[in-house]
Amino acid sequence: RPYPKPKLHTALHFPLPMPSASLRLAVIGAGAAGLAAARELSREGHAPVVFERAAAVGGTWLYAPPATASDPLGAAATHSSLYASLRTNLPRETMGFLDFPFAAGAAGSEDPRRFPEHEEVLRYLDAFARRFDLLQLVRFETEVVSVRREDAGRWAVTSRKLGDKGSGEEEVYDAVVVCNGHYTVPRIAAIPGVNAWPGKQIHSHNYRVPEPFLDQVVIIIGASASAFDISRDIATTAKEVHIADRSAPVDTCEKQPGYTSTVAKLMLKLQIDRALEDGSVVFQDGSSIKADVIMHCTGYLYDFPFLGDDSTVTVDDNRVDPLYKHVFPPEVAPQLSFIGLPWKVIPFPLFELQSKWVAGVLAGRIGLPSKDEMMGDVKAFYSKLEARGWPKRYTHNFSNYQFEYDDWLAAQSGHPPVEEWRKQMYAVNAKNKKDRPELSRRVG
Ligand code: FAD
Repeated sequence: RPYPKPKLHTALHFPLPMPSASLRLAVIGAGAAGLAAARELSREGHAPVVFERAAAVGGTWLYAPPATASDPLGAAATHSSLYASLRTNLPRETMGFLDFPFAAGAAGSEDPRRFPEHEEVLRYLDAFARRFDLLQLVRFETEVVSVRREDAGRWAVTSRKLGDKGSGEEEVYDAVVVCNGHYTVPRIAAIPGVNAWPGKQIHSHNYRVPEPFLDQVVIIIGASASAFDISRDIATTAKEVHIADRSAPVDTCEKQPGYTSTVAKLMLKLQIDRALEDGSVVFQDGSSIKADVIMHCTGYLYDFPFLGDDSTVTVDDNRVDPLYKHVFPPEVAPQLSFIGLPWKVIPFPLFELQSKWVAGVLAGRIGLPSKDEMMGDVKAFYSKLEARGWPKRYTHNFSNYQFEYDDWLAAQSGHPPVEEWRKQMYAVNAKNKKDRPELSRRVG
């Protein structure tokens, strides 16, 4: 059990200017995490200013139509990673915020399915922002370019309006809450020989629609939800689709479910070994195919380009370090915090509970342990990961204990634990996906 039973700290160990006063806070990002944070901070009587690079709220769920990416492997921070056909991979009931159900038929809802199209999630987030009067807190088309520590623990935040070529505007805030998401900076698989390979490489971040892959031979790298969905999507137009999965057992390297229902061949392969100048791609079992495209569905990197060394936080192999309970850097807590880093979770309720905790701590209603205690907790957590044999890059992978974590946060904030039905529905969905990947979205 990575998290101990909740222990409420009553003593305050951190120097806040005026703990119970309304603080001037900068929230970076108006995706689901930033919206959750803005609501909870406002509820505690603070005055959050939300900076958002885009022209609307929603973050990930703001779909960008197909465009010719100048760098199909690289990051374009201006667009999210959604593809046109994407439907949620969690049942909508589980996805919603704890007190604002993501219900079919609610105001603004147009797609009643249990696993709705991505536009439905955007409509939901927009309704959430309107219901809790959050839009007036957001400075749209405004990017935070730098966050620098001042005396007394405050932060100088420099932001720039879209199109402004100047150095931007600097303002001082009592605390900064980082909600900038972590699904836009691609992680790319290293493939020996790929530089001389004549085909095209693209990261799932830049994938939108299957039409450009008509009659092509495509290799998809990865075993994630995106690899699963995109392989099936591309198989509707491509000549062949091969999924290279480093964890694939040799005896499962064969036709995949979906093979018969699609035009193209859908095959599972072992990890790519190397790519050759003649267009071939060789797999670890020695087999090879001539391919036109390699699609990297290999995930994303945490990135905080606006933070400097004074944040005390570094990112190494996708570990954001050090963070007490994945939220507060002990050295500068609570004036800097991060909402939304955990993955393999139900994101919105987790964001909400993290936000309640951060807002309560900033209000002086909830105490934090001393810096030393927080650092001790971080180290103990790392030791547990090591003992479990998990690589560093899994630091924020919560696949086994998200609800334990959620309930710990809830207890800190005096909120009831996550509902039993939600936990059960999540478990059933996970089992369905594993047992019947092709059918799981049709269940219920
Ligand atoms: P984001 O949604 O990325 O929002 C971050 C915001 O910060 C963005 O609006 C960005 O413009 C802004 N920003 C970043 N940097 C700056 C800056 N310097 N200045 C100003 N603004 C900035 N979750 C589910 O619950 N169900 C699903 O089915 C599901 N499917 C997914 C499918 C895909 C392909 C992906 C990529 C993710 C999926 N997720 C799903 C996870 C999803 O990302 C989360 O649900 C959630 O939207 C993340 O919210 P966020 O606020 O943390 O980040």
